[in-house]
Amino acid sequence: MAKQFKPETLCVQAGWTPKKGEPRVLPIYQSTTFKYETSEQMARLFDLEESGYFYTRLQNPTNDAVAAKIAALEGGVAGMLTSSGQAANFYAIFNICQAGDHFVCSSAIYGGTFNLFGVTMKKLGIEVTFVSPDASEEEISAAFRPNTKALFGETISNPSLEVLDIEKFARIAHSHGVPLIVDNTFPTPINCRPFEWGADIVVHSTTKYMDGHATSVGGCIVDSGKFDWDAHADKFPGLCTPDESYHGLTYTKAFGKMAYITKATAQLMRDLGSIQSPQNSFLLNLGLETLHLRMPQHCKNAQAVAEYLSKNDKVAWVNYCGLPGNKYYELAQKYMPNGSCGVISFGLKGGREISIKFMDSLKLAAIVTHVADARTCVLHPASHTHRQLSDEQLLEAGVRPDLIRFSVGIENADDIIADIEQALNA
Ligand code: PLP
Repeated sequence: MAKQFKPETLCVQAGWTPKKGEPRVLPIYQSTTFKYETSEQMARLFDLEESGYFYTRLQNPTNDAVAAKIAALEGGVAGMLTSSGQAANFYAIFNICQAGDHFVCSSAIYGGTFNLFGVTMKKLGIEVTFVSPDASEEEISAAFRPNTKALFGETISNPSLEVLDIEKFARIAHSHGVPLIVDNTFPTPINCRPFEWGADIVVHSTTKYMDGHATSVGGCIVDSGKFDWDAHADKFPGLCTPDESYHGLTYTKAFGKMAYITKATAQLMRDLGSIQSPQNSFLLNLGLETLHLRMPQHCKNAQAVAEYLSKNDKVAWVNYCGLPGNKYYELAQKYMPNGSCGVISFGLKGGREISIKFMDSLKLAAIVTHVADARTCVLHPASHTHRQLSDEQLLEAGVRPDLIRFSVGIENADDIIADIEQALNA
């Protein structure tokens, strides 16, 4: 479905356009394999001479329909679903970096991504330098090396809720001849489309708002098709020189704007196999059909909760980029004028113990290791995801010991606020 449709229409209809007599609803192709008439037909698929399905570890029609919908929403040329957001981030980097390479990354990112990039990828010989997203262009540029292959950041970081200056990051990346990769999980393409601001590749944990109902872990990578790999061929041999595992085929020559996603599918999915299950992508598609309805409600409720908290004298501080006076208010207005996301963070006077007592007193909001769900949920990183860290280490990681991450759902805002109020009084 072409890009002339508006996001609401794409949410409902993109990716699956049934022909005469075909199911109106995207079917689950619950099949590992796909049938061919001759051995020669199948051989052509293995040589990438023809496109087609043969084994779900690489590609599946249900997944491809959903990836196409997300690509349309982001305004990209192609997308690929992965089994998790972690897999999407790993593949996005590993598709263009190999042992001996380096990339630069905003330090304001999800803890799991921080660990993947800083610890696990290091074991594969790929190094990262973390930079403050608020540093000057000169300071961030200073982190680049001759072997740097990408710049990475999160549109709104989890859980520190810092807003990325996408245009600044794109300028820096392009001045060094590398793509900007943006994790757009929190705003979703309903609130921000990073390609419109210069990003080249977008990644998602679809586990969050896209699924929206906490049913399925998943991820997605979308390519804008805009980055000119051949103009920097020396940096990207994996895309611009022959692939021995496909009889010397060169991705940029054979697939043009589809080179990056084709390589990720044909090479990384083939070898590493972190494909999303068709059942999960079916559920993800149901979530996407209402993404445009849910996101404004998340934002409206989060704004109401943030305003309530900021006026309550039991609350020490509130962090939400929709509040005038927030450090990122102007950037959020520029990149996300219709709303950012439903996640806010705050601290209570009295610190860590009071935070724990408050959370235990909540009735409507549930304590879960999850965020960006239709149901309001809450987490205390210092007690949960980051509990092994001392207070000093927490501050170094950008997580205040008293930080409560509150993911505002799509229930009635008055009910959410009433729950907070009774817990504050408890
Ligand atoms: N990116 C962001 C911004 C996240 O918040 C998360 C998880 O919370 C991930 C990536 C990882 O996604 P997943 O949990 O689907 O592997």
